[in-house]
Amino acid sequence: MPKAYPWNSILQPVHHDNTKCTEGNNIEKQYLRQGTGGKPLCKHCQRLDVAGQ
Ligand SMILES: [Zn+2]
Repeated sequence: MPKAYPWNSILQPVHHDNTKCTEGNNIEKQYLRQGTGGKPLCKHCQRLDVAGQ
């Protein structure tokens, strides 16, 4: 299960925690931050997490 430590982009209003999330994977390095940033979980990650992917 590719669930990972949460990360977020300073350009997005959500955080990611699933390495299969395309949005989460497309974040450019200079905008990438570790942790949730106090933002809600991305809906795509949430779906993947619930599906156990
Ligand atoms: Zn995501």
